[in-house]
Amino acid sequence: MSAVVYRAPLLTPRSADRLDAWADGGLRVRDGRIEAAGDFDAVMVLGEAAVESLDGVLVPGFADVHIHWVQFPVRGAFEEELMPWLREYIWPEEMRYADQDFARAAAQRFFAATVRAGTVMGMSYSSVHAAATHIADEARVGDWMVGDVVMEHGAPEALTRASVHDAAELNARAAGIGPDRYVVTPRFALNCTPALMAALGDFARAGGYRVQTHLSESPGEIREVLREFPDAEDYTDVYDRAGLLGPRSVLGHCIHLSPREWSVLRARGSWIAHCPSSNEALDSGRMDLDTVRRLDIPYALASDVGAGSSHSLLHVMQRFLEIHRAAGVEVSATEALYRATLAGAECMGRGAVAGSLDAGKRADFVLLPRPAGGFLPEAWIEEWTRGAMAELETRPLATWIAGERHAPPAT
Ligand SMILES: [Zn+2]
Repeated sequence: MSAVVYRAPLLTPRSADRLDAWADGGLRVRDGRIEAAGDFDAVMVLGEAAVESLDGVLVPGFADVHIHWVQFPVRGAFEEELMPWLREYIWPEEMRYADQDFARAAAQRFFAATVRAGTVMGMSYSSVHAAATHIADEARVGDWMVGDVVMEHGAPEALTRASVHDAAELNARAAGIGPDRYVVTPRFALNCTPALMAALGDFARAGGYRVQTHLSESPGEIREVLREFPDAEDYTDVYDRAGLLGPRSVLGHCIHLSPREWSVLRARGSWIAHCPSSNEALDSGRMDLDTVRRLDIPYALASDVGAGSSHSLLHVMQRFLEIHRAAGVEVSATEALYRATLAGAECMGRGAVAGSLDAGKRADFVLLPRPAGGFLPEAWIEEWTRGAMAELETRPLATWIAGERHAPPAT
């Protein structure tokens, strides 16, 4: 196919503190890939191309590395602490995904909403049900990884019965999806025995699978974990003993960790899925960003819907900037954009093929409205994160995934 050059200002993050930007940019796309990105004139000399001028600014598509697609219908609906919220609202809701028609309709609504909000990739928790996980994988719009939550005990029987109970069963469920898309997902320590967690860890290592779980979200949860695992040194040690921590592990939250636990995470090279809006909603506390930075622990932003009230990464960026600044920690708009795009791709092991506007990468990008005034990339990012949640969810003017344009429905 011939190339198309999209003409608009371009912004793309390089790292937590560096951004490249072109006021008169050109994004050259062919066959779903970016062929070149930079100054419009420089991109045009590469050869014949159709030019499409866009009214807005192009940034990479967003990545959400911790979201529960099965909680999308009840996102932000309840204000509770973690443990009662799970038991009273979330687990009963997730039981509904035993019904495949229900799951199929819910998956379609979920992916329509995430694309509308500019999200092009992510890692999602499913319910315990094998079929619902396959339905999500089939219905996905964008580059999503998904895993059914393993809940062996500590939950209603309707859930524990449908869960994976051993590695052989996990193998059967992962087959057909594979390590590129299937994530080993022990929900959290309170739903699994040490023996099962160790089997999951072995399976993930042997097959090259990513692991996702929750770590140290609320004080009530931590107390229960320590009661249930009296031999463990701390919450992190429960997972570490099971062999669940490594560079392919993505740990949601990490709010109340001791210095020992932080050093274990650093030593294992594990990622944190940082979910500021969720932490705010469940009053869980604030992740210690100073320590994360000091130890150079990799992290990416995530919505954690349904505890997170919105699937919009612009909303997550807003909460990220606000809660750390309110605590006196310096955070930049550039860092927010990096953590919501390229860092997410890196967390998923896709840093070389997605997450930024670079030649050779998948053509995943979002058109955002051009703020009034001069060319001020840092101020523009701040501007895009301002506003009410519903506004942020529909702020993108269009989203491209692998070069294919997903325009919002006409209103
Ligand atoms: Zn979660």
